[in-house]
Amino acid sequence: MLLFENSQVFARQLDEKDPLKHFRDRFHHPEWKGKPAVYLCGNSLGLQPKSAADYVRTELEDWARLGVEGHVHSRNPWLYYHHTVEHQTAALVGASSPGEVVVMNALSVNLNLMMVSFYRPTPSRYKILLEAKAFPSDQYAAEMQARFHGYDPEQAVLELPLRPGEQTHRTEDILAFIQEHGQELALILIGGVNYYSGQFFDLPALAAAGRAAGAVVGYDLAHAVGNVPLRLHDWEVDFAVWCSYKYLNSGPGGVSGVFVHHKHANRSDLPRFAGWWGNSEETRFLMEPGFHPQPGAAGWQMSNAPVLPMAVHRASLDLFAEAGMEPLRTKSEQLTGYLEYLLNQIQSSDFRIITPSDPAQRGCQLSIQFKQHGKEVFEALKQAGIIADWREPDVIRVAPVPLYNRYEDVYHFARVLQEVLEQASAELPSKK
Ligand SMILES: *Cc1c(COP(=O)(O)O)cnc(C)c1O
Repeated sequence: MLLFENSQVFARQLDEKDPLKHFRDRFHHPEWKGKPAVYLCGNSLGLQPKSAADYVRTELEDWARLGVEGHVHSRNPWLYYHHTVEHQTAALVGASSPGEVVVMNALSVNLNLMMVSFYRPTPSRYKILLEAKAFPSDQYAAEMQARFHGYDPEQAVLELPLRPGEQTHRTEDILAFIQEHGQELALILIGGVNYYSGQFFDLPALAAAGRAAGAVVGYDLAHAVGNVPLRLHDWEVDFAVWCSYKYLNSGPGGVSGVFVHHKHANRSDLPRFAGWWGNSEETRFLMEPGFHPQPGAAGWQMSNAPVLPMAVHRASLDLFAEAGMEPLRTKSEQLTGYLEYLLNQIQSSDFRIITPSDPAQRGCQLSIQFKQHGKEVFEALKQAGIIADWREPDVIRVAPVPLYNRYEDVYHFARVLQEVLEQASAELPSKK
């Protein structure tokens, strides 16, 4: 057990010893009002890898030079561009082979596409189970997919209950709920790391429970990929989706990824929406009717690859491959542990951390819930050059990212927060 100290000297010592410290310089770091900001918002939009511009420039040059011939004759032929990211993507999510993953579209689009295939309600088994406070896109998708099949969302969409006064789920409660309601569940759709609470669910246990209950299990990994270790194939998750612009640093609105378990690779019985890019590569350009999907996740593609955002994605994936998810996770647990330690040192009853304190149940994010004045505190932090993230109604999310954040960033944040809270308690009227 590492003993922390609440001092800048100590934070700097940890930075000095950090084997991943050199990755910080591989990113552009934003400024705020002319000064370097402390960026703790990689859970919302990851920073830009400095290499991204080169990767994009390559494609822009080839497009300028070759026009349409770039599909075949560019340095990274665009016809096969999505294949350039599949090995690293497979490694990040624990797929058994590149065939289990594909990078395409955007996240909410892919979530709906996966539900078209994997939400197969019947009159006795039509319910979708979400965690409490699921991300709105996931709630909307569940609601509208249920309605699309003729079910009343009020009946069809279940939210896992929280115990009174608790903000995160207990695994035993989730498992008991799945067992109790298993007969009715068509789909279990869980955010691998919940965006609001920061809770990292026991994904293998949930997948096993869902399977035992006869339900399909799908995960939205927007806040999990690039943040926590994933073994989707071994866990026998049916499908998963994620975005690339949060921890994967692939730029605003960047491409999304999809995992489809190998056992579904050749399921011709599943309905799916289709476009030419999902069709067998051998017959794609024969331009004939009759959809013959490629095996695996690639068979869910619709459109040809968006090469420019994918070029940014490649730049970032190369950095992940270089750093390695295991060393990143090791640092992440320490870095977030240090943040937690420093927050606990602040003597204030104005806030509490709602993210689980067990490192196995969280990624890098801590969600700090405020009793009062949360929004004002958030604004004051911003004025002091700290970029974090506000979530209604009462939470500041802080995410020290092991690829580019330092222990000193975390130290600085805690110092400023303490000052802001002291000022607020002097200046702002207290809630009675
Ligand atoms: C960020 C996030 C989204 C965003 O969806 P987009 O389609 O990329 O806009 C969806 N779901 C979850 C769980 C998220 O965290």
